[in-house]
Amino acid sequence: MCIFCEIIKRKLPAYIVYENDELISFLDIEPINEGHVLIIPKQHVDTIEELSDETLVDIMGVAKKIVVAVKDIYGNRGYCIMQNGGKFCDFGHVHFHVFPRYDNDGFGWTYGSEEKDVNEEIAERIRLQLKSNL
Ligand SMILES: [Zn+2]
Repeated sequence: MCIFCEIIKRKLPAYIVYENDELISFLDIEPINEGHVLIIPKQHVDTIEELSDETLVDIMGVAKKIVVAVKDIYGNRGYCIMQNGGKFCDFGHVHFHVFPRYDNDGFGWTYGSEEKDVNEEIAERIRLQLKSNL
């Protein structure tokens, strides 16, 4: 059983901030900034494509509520919502990070050294794939 499923089943402790039938939310134990929260579907899957649209909407609704609550507490003017999927999903269990951001808080993107293309051909490939997947 993964660490998040153990938290869901109360076999491991966590600082839970919210829970409903579909998801649970608690403090990340390695916060980027104070008030860093994880939102986790109760279904053990490693990509969002395996979750129902309803669950994803529920997660985003809770993320919005957390963004507002954290802003009310800390007065931060910005935030991040992040999710890593598939091979890059830690513990193999989908989780969304929600955390407050501040100027010069040290958090940021890192890029590989190779430059990547951005062009119409790429956009068209994705548009066509989206249409064929619908
Ligand atoms: Zn799990």
